[in-house]
Amino acid sequence: MKIAAPGDTAYKTWLGHTQHCPTCLAGLSCPTAVKLGRVWREARR
Ligand SMILES: [Zn+2]
Repeated sequence: MKIAAPGDTAYKTWLGHTQHCPTCLAGLSCPTAVKLGRVWREARR
């Protein structure tokens, strides 16, 4: 069993957000999703 990479948690947070956020579900530009996506990219480094 491998240890989850730091990016995994950030990705799941982003994924969970997009699946429950009305703005994201509507396909609109969501500042929160943008922010979470940025955190994910930072964590993958
Ligand atoms: Zn959103």
